Amino acid sequence: MYKLSLMFFSNDLRIADNATLLHAAERSAKLICVYLQQPDALYLRYSMSPSVLQRQQLFQSLDTLDLNLRGLGQHLHSVVDGSTDGLARLLERFEPCAIYRSQQADPSVESRWNAVIKLYPQVVFNQITSHTLFEQTALPFQLASLPNSFSKFRRLVEPLPISKAIAAPAQLPPPPQMADHWRQLFTPIEKRANTPIAGGEGAAAQHVTEYFKGDAAQTYKLTRNALDGWQNSTKFSLWLANGTISVRQIFQQLKHHESKHGANDSTYWIYFELLWREYFQWYAHSHGNRVIEYKGLAEISPKTSFYPERFRKWCIGNTPHPLINACMKQLNACGYMSNRGRQLVASCLVHELALDWRYGAAYMAQNLIDYDFASNWGNWQYLAGVGADPRGHRHFNLQKQTAIYDPKGHFVSLWDGAHCDSQLDSVDMVDWPITRQKSSKD
Ligand SMILES: Cc1cc2nc3c(=O)[nH]c(=O)nc-3n(C[C@H](O)[C@H](O)[C@H](O)COP(=O)(O)OP(=O)(O)OC[C@H]3O[C@@H](n4cnc5c(N)ncnc54)[C@H](O)[C@@H]3O)c2cc1C
Repeated sequence: MYKLSLMFFSNDLRIADNATLLHAAERSAKLICVYLQQPDALYLRYSMSPSVLQRQQLFQSLDTLDLNLRGLGQHLHSVVDGSTDGLARLLERFEPCAIYRSQQADPSVESRWNAVIKLYPQVVFNQITSHTLFEQTALPFQLASLPNSFSKFRRLVEPLPISKAIAAPAQLPPPPQMADHWRQLFTPIEKRANTPIAGGEGAAAQHVTEYFKGDAAQTYKLTRNALDGWQNSTKFSLWLANGTISVRQIFQQLKHHESKHGANDSTYWIYFELLWREYFQWYAHSHGNRVIEYKGLAEISPKTSFYPERFRKWCIGNTPHPLINACMKQLNACGYMSNRGRQLVASCLVHELALDWRYGAAYMAQNLIDYDFASNWGNWQYLAGVGADPRGHRHFNLQKQTAIYDPKGHFVSLWDGAHCDSQLDSVDMVDWPITRQKSSKD
């Protein structure tokens, strides 16, 4: 039993099915629960910051977690400085015997922790898997030999059993007495603001339960590619990203739904998509920093560049492609875009606009409420042809896609996608200003 442990929450903002919290609870006499508001290294690299919608969802999730912890005799502290120095200050101040934290896919977070582990050999560091369906040790291959395509991965993992979600601890060890000046290390958790999509463990559980109570799961495969519509896809990502629900809890509810309402192609396909998520999680763990590198896993770099004007136009939805504009305006207004939309805007950025894919990935990282390191960067690499797909990059024909997914133009009109500049660049390739073509009316 450890005299004092620190429990660091990250993308596991829940008390149910949180193996990390349960381990900490069972092995510690006293416990301090902390959330690190670390400035994400990627936001810093691209001079971006999380959107208001993303932050609101996070603060709602933290606020709910704090409430739930209080019900178990604990509470959540928030720390602004999650750098190696900030972590070192916490460890020096509290001198914990043990640290508990969930494994994260972002290599910059892992390397920061590795640096701290080296500095404090006397502290027992426990890093536990809580974001995936399978444990790393259950995978039928070494992480370094992760299959290079999703299909191969799926065939290997599909037969594996999936452990049941675990219940929340009945009680948590109490926090230690804290001197007032110690509290200066912590900042209050911002209170929840009303958002269209409520964050937090309760809202997550309610959403998933309601989804499986209805019949949307029975037709999921037929509707999941739609550009819009709340029921057309599960929207589980909105809560999976912060870990206010676990992928195992969702899997369990899926199985329960199948046992009551029957299994079919559509219910299977929800599992199939969760396996895509699973693949990208292990892909990020396996490839580390290469997941954010321009060349990714490819042998040669893509032939793209950075054109500020084009990038800005893509971000605000002012390209010559109405469908892309509609998708980007939807993202900017709602913090969400359908999977089909994400594929199309990524393909457009890389192929039509010839832009460096990492800027697109960083923009989504900033704006998606469901931003998840592994799913975002993994999908972008896949679409840019520098990632997991051995068949090379995916270039979507935007006219064909519009005809299939928005044949009557409802989506484009809803988001005013046709309101745009017809020209992409206001200077040509040798920096010569482009004058407007004279029309016959001029
Ligand atoms: C360029 C690009 C960027 C993306 N960025 C993110 C991201 O930051 N966060 C994120 O969660 N997903 C991301 N995705 C994957 C996917 O688009 C979203 O998970 C999905 O649209 C979320 O809506 P949903 O929950 O209704 O999905 P559903 O279609 O209902 O799928 C169910 C669940 O399966 C998983 N899933 C489905 N498709 C994928 C996929 N292609 N990759 C990984 N997991 C998948 C998600 O957890 C999702 O919640 C991205 C895809 C692309 C093409």
